[in-house]
Amino acid sequence: MLYIVLVLVLAALGLLVTALITASSLWAWVSIGLSVLAGLILVADWLRRRRRSAAPAAPATPAASAASAVSPPEPEEPAEEEQTTLIPASGDLGDPADTPEPTVTDASPGDETNDDPEPEVEETPEADIAVLADLEDEVVVVDEHPRYHLRTCAWLGTRDTIPIGIGEARQLGFTPCARCTPDATLVAAHR
Ligand SMILES: [Zn+2]
Repeated sequence: MLYIVLVLVLAALGLLVTALITASSLWAWVSIGLSVLAGLILVADWLRRRRRSAAPAAPATPAASAASAVSPPEPEEPAEEEQTTLIPASGDLGDPADTPEPTVTDASPGDETNDDPEPEVEETPEADIAVLADLEDEVVVVDEHPRYHLRTCAWLGTRDTIPIGIGEARQLGFTPCARCTPDATLVAAHR
């Protein structure tokens, strides 16, 4: 669109130079006509942008080629206005296609995980505690939860787990989960 205006302005300048060289007032008038046409196209373009229309203005090209008179650009503006009114109308038809339902179903599984209560503490025999102190096996903990677990524990679900040595976990005050029984499992594996 702006490219057409640029061409028109350059053509008007060229004709103005021609008019000065040939001393013919006809070329000067044609030059003025082209300048006015360029101005009208700029105004039409500005109106089109203000209406948030993305469609390219096709009717401008034939008008520019027949730009030897001042009058042709006038029917251009109503034509463009018709175009711009059509485009928002079709856009409005597309708008109601909204599906807010999936967000509701997405929320429910997360709630279930949050409602899952903290597991009981596994009861570890004294003999096993002595064995655990020497083990370097990894268990996992969840931030702000007091139990440590085996990686396979069902309670973990989709929670973010932090791997930690079982000895360090016990030193830090974490307690074994009664559901996955990491103490009994690791002691049994060690023996
Ligand atoms: Zn567990």
